[in-house]
Amino acid sequence: MEQKRLQNKVAIVTGASRGIGQAIAVAYAREGAKVVGIDIADQTDTASKIQSMGAQFAALQADFSKFTRKDAFDLIAKVTQLQGRIDILVNNAGIIRRAPAVDYSEEDWNALIHINLTVPFFLCQAVAKWWLTTGREQSPPNARLKIINIASMLSFQGGILVPGYTASKSGIAGITRALANEWAKERINVNAVAPGYIATENTRPLREDPKRNQAILDRIPEGRWGLPEDIAGGCVFLASSEADYINGAILNIDGGWLAR
Ligand code: NAD
Repeated sequence: MEQKRLQNKVAIVTGASRGIGQAIAVAYAREGAKVVGIDIADQTDTASKIQSMGAQFAALQADFSKFTRKDAFDLIAKVTQLQGRIDILVNNAGIIRRAPAVDYSEEDWNALIHINLTVPFFLCQAVAKWWLTTGREQSPPNARLKIINIASMLSFQGGILVPGYTASKSGIAGITRALANEWAKERINVNAVAPGYIATENTRPLREDPKRNQAILDRIPEGRWGLPEDIAGGCVFLASSEADYINGAILNIDGGWLAR
């Protein structure tokens, strides 16, 4: 029988209740990983999808809008108690708020930066600290910690009416490179996946606006919105040993949007 690509790996996926995070969690479980989903929302749907495949899923609840650096360290400690170790962290949970730049509120700006950038950084710190102090020692000599951040087209472009989101996703691309640079020698791979326009809750208002919907479709060489499952394959690859020599990369999965 063919060996699954993430057999017995322990993977944390944030924002696993639906959308892209759910698709990543399901794909990881299919490849043999034990997945721990972290979300503010109920994760029953993800749990039943994964458990019906005969795979393991554990759900932990956290509200990232009020999440501190200490909360991140406590969460990583809880997962290592629960599963014994961590092999993969996917920072996927994220929000978007739309408003003209001159009207963008302090509350929206702070929420965007905190949930989309600060919390992922705290989780990277916490999981890397665990790896450097205990995890690496307890692992086979060639084992590696894989961190995958979910970036965006707005890691590269300005976007329309989403300055806080653009700032957070440009920041995610920056910390992906900064941490990759610092941690490659520690056997930690830090990379990102940048989804194009994917049909989820995050982009529902765009699809409901006939003009924006058509303008977006006209610009995508593939001619369709992406699906969450389109993103999951790249996340499996970056988490697998096939990607051991990939550090600080941002993998665009965008139906050709950026190639245009
Ligand atoms: P989504 O809104 O369907 O999912 C977001 C997930 O994050 C949900 O499970 C939600 O409950 C969770 N979440 C939100 N706020 C949270 C909080 N305060 N604490 C904990 N969890 C919280 O959106 P999605 O499209 O699946 O987005 C997933 C990631 O992909 C995000 O980082 C998003 O920015 C990114 N992304 C999406 C697209 C797209 O086109 N959909 C494009 C580029 C990047």
